[in-house]
Amino acid sequence: MRITGLRLRQLTGIMEHEEPFWEERLARPVDVYPEHKVQTAADGYWMPRLIAPGRSEVISVFLEIDTDEGVTGLAGPVPHEVAWIIDREFRGLLQGADPLATERLWDLMYREAVHGRKGATMMAISAIDCALWDLKGRWMQQPVYRLLGGPVRPSAPAYASMLGYSIEPELAHKRTREKVAEGFRALKWFPRWGPTDGREGMARNIELAETLRDAAGPDVDIMLDAWMTWNRPYTLEFARRVAHLDIRWIEEPVMPDKIELCAEIRHLSPVPIATGEHEYTRWGQKALLDAGASDVLQADTFWAGGLSEMVKICTLASTYDIPVIAHGHSVPANTHLTLAMPELLAPMVEYLVKWNELLQFFWQEPVKPVDGMISVSDRPGLGVEIDPDKIESEEELGWSSVPNMAGSVQTHQQTIEEGE
Ligand SMILES: [Mg+2]
Repeated sequence: MRITGLRLRQLTGIMEHEEPFWEERLARPVDVYPEHKVQTAADGYWMPRLIAPGRSEVISVFLEIDTDEGVTGLAGPVPHEVAWIIDREFRGLLQGADPLATERLWDLMYREAVHGRKGATMMAISAIDCALWDLKGRWMQQPVYRLLGGPVRPSAPAYASMLGYSIEPELAHKRTREKVAEGFRALKWFPRWGPTDGREGMARNIELAETLRDAAGPDVDIMLDAWMTWNRPYTLEFARRVAHLDIRWIEEPVMPDKIELCAEIRHLSPVPIATGEHEYTRWGQKALLDAGASDVLQADTFWAGGLSEMVKICTLASTYDIPVIAHGHSVPANTHLTLAMPELLAPMVEYLVKWNELLQFFWQEPVKPVDGMISVSDRPGLGVEIDPDKIESEEELGWSSVPNMAGSVQTHQQTIEEGE
């Protein structure tokens, strides 16, 4: 079997939702600058685009890999900059290759893109790898979790990740109770305040933690995600002041390059520390493990290198006895991975409640938790299909008119030669 081509399908659909869709945003590292700090959830830097009250336009790009045997692999959605890299950097490289040789193709892409070991290029490799696993499953008529050596268990707990919900105490209390009533045994919330918000900000973050514990009761896990906006003294003071609330973890307290600092925080904090969603490949995750920077690794399947790399990251983490709870931008792929791993190694699946309305909007059967547990179907591959009824319009993306990188280098060389 040979790869005959890639397609980048940009789909547009209309999603109906409660108004507003985003009630709150997360704190961001750029919020140390006042012009960024004033932005609200309504400032619209996130999709979807509101077109009328309760109706938004969802635009998603999906990758399809075609073969000469008529089997197609599907993955996504991917951001536009990732689609661009897939098109420019990898389309030609994959043409004619054996799509089942996922290990070979991963290594080929990794060696080709030596500047792309982290960030958007690795996200492109991740999406291609996931599409290839989907393709392999469809060709073998087996679900991906079985190809990965599973199932170890038929379903796994999902935790509700509450990004985008209001953190006003009354509403946060109400939503926490709702999610617990739906069956979730763990919830993650996003404190909005940090070191530049003084004592009042700290008090509001602590109030949020107290509210969540009160609403959840003693038997439900609460996690808090600082999304890289805190520093060492702030995190340690916060951890000390909420230690009695039995918080399961504080997530990403500092910027991802501060690995040693994160390790120091972890060793001093009475609350466990989780990190890794903005780290890439086995080598990036190994640096976190070697430093002792995290109690939980949170590599994202669609960012850190795809399913091929996540299996290696899980194997590596198992030797340190550190669990992997994959970051939740790819619930179908993450669920296949989690169900193929021992429970202590991959104990849960992150379910970003609002984000999944967008990320899984075009799926015929989105992968959603029931009673706090998540599982996937026995359909071949990753088990998801695009629902044609949700497509309002469609465009195939390609940037072939842009001069390619090899061309630019050649021009540069010629310029040098001409100069000589
Ligand atoms: Mg996070």
